[in-house]
Amino acid sequence: MKTNNIKSSLSIYLRLLGYVKPYVSPFSISILGFGIYASGQPMLAAVLKYFVDGLSDPQKATISGLPLLNGMQMMHAVPLMVILIAAWQGIGSYLGNYYLAKVSCGVVHDLRVSLFRNLLTLPDAYYDRNNSGHLISRITFNVTMVTRAATEAIKIVIREGLTVIALLVYLLWTNWRLTLTMIAVLPFIIIIAGNASRKFRKQAKRIQVAMGDVTHVASEAIQGHRVVRSFGGGVYEEQRFVAASENNMAKLVKMVKTATTATALLQLLVYSAMGGLFFLVLWLRGEASPGDLIAYITAAGLLPKPTKQLSEVSATIQSGVAAAESIFSQLDEPPEIDQGTQERERVTGRVVVRDLTFSYPGTDKLVLDGLNFTIEPGQMVALVGRSGSGKSTLANLIPRFYHHTQGKILIDGMDVEQYTLRNLRRHVAVVNQQITLFNDTVANNIAYGDLAGAARTEIERVAAAAFAREFIECLPLGFDTLVGENGVLLSGGQRQRLAIARALLKNAPILILDEATSALDTESEQHIQAALDHVIQGRTTLVIAHRLSTIEKADVIMVMDQGKIVERGTHTELIALNGHYARLHAIQFREPTEGL
Ligand code: ATP
Ligand code: MG
Repeated sequence: MKTNNIKSSLSIYLRLLGYVKPYVSPFSISILGFGIYASGQPMLAAVLKYFVDGLSDPQKATISGLPLLNGMQMMHAVPLMVILIAAWQGIGSYLGNYYLAKVSCGVVHDLRVSLFRNLLTLPDAYYDRNNSGHLISRITFNVTMVTRAATEAIKIVIREGLTVIALLVYLLWTNWRLTLTMIAVLPFIIIIAGNASRKFRKQAKRIQVAMGDVTHVASEAIQGHRVVRSFGGGVYEEQRFVAASENNMAKLVKMVKTATTATALLQLLVYSAMGGLFFLVLWLRGEASPGDLIAYITAAGLLPKPTKQLSEVSATIQSGVAAAESIFSQLDEPPEIDQGTQERERVTGRVVVRDLTFSYPGTDKLVLDGLNFTIEPGQMVALVGRSGSGKSTLANLIPRFYHHTQGKILIDGMDVEQYTLRNLRRHVAVVNQQITLFNDTVANNIAYGDLAGAARTEIERVAAAAFAREFIECLPLGFDTLVGENGVLLSGGQRQRLAIARALLKNAPILILDEATSALDTESEQHIQAALDHVIQGRTTLVIAHRLSTIEKADVIMVMDQGKIVERGTHTELIALNGHYARLHAIQFREPTEGL
């Protein structure tokens, strides 16, 4: 379990590192910069040696080996050296920070874009399994966590790591015996840091889940604000939100607790080592001058700060790794199955369904159970049946929003699996039960996606055919009116007609209309009815209707019940049969009159 964790953690690091590949040159410059910066630390300690030795005789000229300062008096050389070192470190720090920022910002951008791009290829089933709050928080919050790991953590690891190395090299060079004794303490520090980092990783992951819950509850309450208010859900939503937020807070506090405990322990260790150092210096002094000893102690004294920073950085790295883990797990999700290779310019629209059986992934319930039917080109087929009988499911299988494994759906004699997804979806226009509009103009909502850039006259023509033109022209800016988030500024019937216009503009040979369940007023219904009459001309249409009045003219009406087709025929035939359809019909046409 433990080795597994380390292994997976390592593979995540390596994978993140893979994202740095395109930025090798700025990354190398940055490392070089931090190297320059780090080399300045022991130099500062070394200057002290000359300073202390110079205190006894300022006129002494002993600085040899440095060509620039050779033969100079201590009094002048030491101050000059301090300034040169500061400039040297400044250059290093600039190069290190600037180029690292270039790398990390680039990596974050790449990650965010690949997440979003991946989101566009994932199958419907993935969206069913994951709530949108978590998906959004992954793109925003998780990527930020990775940014922090990428900038702060890498910076500290490289800069402070190199500083520690530079200082250790200097210490070993001046007095290896002392230094080795000091290094003996290091394993303890490493063990404590390692323990803490494992804890952090677990906690960081829990925080992310908790953060996703906060986003999720908030976004549900925002999107459903009307339901919340009309059903008095305010108190419930508030309790839910407070619970999610409290959970998040508690986890953050716990993470800080672990971090601070580890830091305090480490500090205690480091300072005990310092105490030991003073003892050893006084004991093992040997031939060294006071200047040598001061320089040594200074360099050793510079060690704890970068070491401490290194130990603290594990929290950041771990949260970055946890964030990266969930990013990678999404990136590893298999995309929509798209193994088809065939493409057709245009199909006639003959749809044949053979022994189609389907259950949603992860469930056993048969939602569709052995369906068989054929829709000839240009026919209008209506699908009716109780709620939950599987009508929308069937509609979703034709453009392969879900993947079926039993039975066949053929379009123009070819299995839908054999078409490439993109080509298949070009032949099928779908108006979903839940209509999606984007916060854009009416015209851009009709001409969306592949249709973007369609001529205004075309847009107007389809709007007229969908009986939408009349109301669009009454809007303040006509076709250029913004419809609001998901079309909130429009009525249900208006939104539906826009969706129909969009499908019409696509001009696909197969049209699937999944009628919204929401009750429309009689006028809207008449408009949609009229729109339908236009729409069905010259194409194969599958209409899923909740209002039977809309489909009386259908060539075939199929009645579904629990995933099976229980009746089929024309309106007159089915009424005469006096079965399911006749019953549904009687219910629908009795209620309004009773209400009057
Ligand atoms: P309605 O008339 O209310 O629109 P419908 O006939 O369109 O109903 P479907 O949406 O096809 O019904 O649903 C059929 C069954 O499949 C239902 O029992 C539903 O619980 C189940 N179901 C629908 N969508 C999913 C999904 N994404 N994952 C799992 N089960 C689902
Ligand atoms: Mg449905």
